[in-house]
Amino acid sequence: MRCAYHRDYFVTLPASHPFPMAKYPLLLERLLAEGLVAPPDLIEPGEATLDDLRLVHTGDYLAQLAAGSLDAAAVRRIGVPWSAALWRRSRLAVQGTLEAALAALDDGLAANLAGGTHHAFADHGEGFCVLNDVGVATRVLQRDGRLRRALVVDLDVHQGNGTAAIFEGDPDVFTFSMHGERNYPLQKMRSTLDVGLEDGLGDEGYLDLLRRHLGTILGGFAPELVFYLAGVDPARGDRYGRLALSDEGLARRERHVLETCRARGLPVVLTIAGGYAPTPQRTAELHAIAFREARRIETAATGAGASCQRRHAGGS
Ligand SMILES: [Zn+2]
Repeated sequence: MRCAYHRDYFVTLPASHPFPMAKYPLLLERLLAEGLVAPPDLIEPGEATLDDLRLVHTGDYLAQLAAGSLDAAAVRRIGVPWSAALWRRSRLAVQGTLEAALAALDDGLAANLAGGTHHAFADHGEGFCVLNDVGVATRVLQRDGRLRRALVVDLDVHQGNGTAAIFEGDPDVFTFSMHGERNYPLQKMRSTLDVGLEDGLGDEGYLDLLRRHLGTILGGFAPELVFYLAGVDPARGDRYGRLALSDEGLARRERHVLETCRARGLPVVLTIAGGYAPTPQRTAELHAIAFREARRIETAATGAGASCQRRHAGGS
């Protein structure tokens, strides 16, 4: 599976900062060590262009990000101190999701080892999210005639409020968010379908709701591409999540989403979104589960050799 990654996805933050920035290099290290990703599968994104970013974000917000002139309240809302490196990182991650989406349209399945920054709105960032990668990637692909209808399956434990607001009223983009009802953001936006979950929900209740709603969505909406935000903050013991999925429950979740979409021939782009386990190592371990399931599904569907051949036949 082709994966977008850039070493500058990692930005140094103050030591006491709660965001687990180290999870990005740790996840890559783990995927390479397990053989789930091979070095030739890595796509190194450049920075998303301002023209592309303007398809979603306001000129004012982008100008302030570029100049480092956001006011203190705007920076507090993002929750990560502004730096030139953060601005660059945010554009790299948007481009990573776009590159992964293009790879998914060719190969069926691809990933960005970052992305899923679903709390970013057109005119501001919040909740550790600066730019909305899925929003921009969707609009770029639509502009370029590569895509009309997209489905966003957002299983991060927090509601995809920015994504919901960006696509509200757009019949070509179905936003599905399944999240902790009592979690941040307290004021929810309106996704096409929101499923708010009770605190403490475990594997069976969670998977039952997922199966039911994903089946209904795909019964009535025919996307050409699925963006999957595979946040691992619904895991038991997450610092912010209030749910209680086991590792096996997460594996079943990833298998279900990927198998259901791939069985219908839908290309899927996987973004990792949030995860706040007690250590960045553990967070990376939880993110790796989706890649293990993706490998299992690819191998079952085509065999490793066939997948390789198909990619080369596609000229990439
Ligand atoms: Zn989250």
